[in-house]
Amino acid sequence: MNFDTIVAVATPVGMGGIGIVRLSGSDSLSISSKFVNIKKNLESHRAYYVKINDNDDVLDNALFIYFKSPNSFTGEEVVEFHCHGNPYILNKVVDISIKYGARLAQAGEFTKRAFLNGKIDLTQAEAVYDLIHSKTSVSLKNANNQIQGKLSSKIKKVRDNLIKTLSHIEAIIDFPDEIDDEPLSNFIPVIKEAEELVIKLINTAEAGKIYREGIKIAIVGKPNAGKSSLLNSLLRFDRAIVTDIEGTTRDTLEEYINIQGIPIQIIDTAGLRNTEDFIEKIGIEKSLESIEQAQLVLLVTDGSQKLQEDELLILDKLQKEKEFILVVNKIDLTDNLNLYTKEIKNVCFVSAKYNRGIEKLESNIFEIILEGKTDSSLDININARHKEILYRANENLEKALVTIEKKLPIDFLAIDIKSVIISMGEIIGENVTEEVITEIFANFCVGK
Ligand code: GDP
Repeated sequence: MNFDTIVAVATPVGMGGIGIVRLSGSDSLSISSKFVNIKKNLESHRAYYVKINDNDDVLDNALFIYFKSPNSFTGEEVVEFHCHGNPYILNKVVDISIKYGARLAQAGEFTKRAFLNGKIDLTQAEAVYDLIHSKTSVSLKNANNQIQGKLSSKIKKVRDNLIKTLSHIEAIIDFPDEIDDEPLSNFIPVIKEAEELVIKLINTAEAGKIYREGIKIAIVGKPNAGKSSLLNSLLRFDRAIVTDIEGTTRDTLEEYINIQGIPIQIIDTAGLRNTEDFIEKIGIEKSLESIEQAQLVLLVTDGSQKLQEDELLILDKLQKEKEFILVVNKIDLTDNLNLYTKEIKNVCFVSAKYNRGIEKLESNIFEIILEGKTDSSLDININARHKEILYRANENLEKALVTIEKKLPIDFLAIDIKSVIISMGEIIGENVTEEVITEIFANFCVGK
């Protein structure tokens, strides 16, 4: 394919040690040569020290790298300027490139070109997005697996088998006299194999979303129960201010922690308490609001005291509406703990102040979040687009099995299997529409 030459800053906005401007397209080199005195016969993949000229002035001294087509990220002629990380310099290099004929790249356009030029398939392009947005080692590993084609290769293998099966079926349909009568049940193993993969992959979708996007946990409880202390021990550093004056956590604090690879946004809220104090009242409203927002709630209670009426009210609300853990804190102060275990599904005993029981709490959180949602044998997490396609594929696989079971005409089987082949192609980016492609890449940032 032949596209125009695009340019964009590839590094994040702001100042930094270095900032990179990237051009891709057949004119990358000739455009660059207008404002950089580059040698003839440049070697590919080699860094050259160059001066970037802005009319008669030197804009920056930079490293210049040329990636000869097709051995570049996009498959096209690519050049990169590794400048000093000053947004003014970087934007100027973009402006100058545009002046000499480049066009500002759209969001995700570099990756889109890599896909359109056949350097990567669609699942790999999507994984580039995941890789950039990974917040923990697990999501990073899964994104890398996908970039390396782990998802595509599984899909392709099953799809190839289905294609072979389909051509066999079509031969039976087209030449009924020449091909021996074969029981349709012979096709069951291939269909089952596809079904097994499809179901396994669908099951990774939810975990994938959690690993990619994380979840929100609200920490609620009465003033002085130890919410701030718990947040601190989960954070392993002092982020929230801890005091022993009731009601000092006035505002909602938001922090991120990483529990076994899941990015978790913790919302610590002001104490739950009936009060006339105006600021605190806002805080209590925020507590209830954060319960609404959170997927999991940690209700912290002071273990040295009995559960109070307002705590029981909240507990009752949580039992009806939410996943939650009753975190019985200050276990260092009491031996009388069994009181709390009655009838409550998830209870954890901790001492936030002395960091006791925190790891057990973390693993409980992890289990609740991912209950029944992982398949560690895959190390892949599909996204919402894949999931929707796989649901369709699964329906058609089931139809195919029914066709065989009920001994319906073989033409039906051909139709069902063809649909599954098309679906699987859509995942890796064959026969997808322009709109789908545009939507996928629109989520990327400019420069990627
Ligand atoms: P919050 O109002 O719920 O955020 O409670 P804080 O975290 O500010 O804690 C209130 C008081 O309880 C502070 O004096 C803490 O040091 C104390 N505290 C918190 N956790 C524990 C614990 O596990 N054991 C003991 N003995 N004191 C604790």
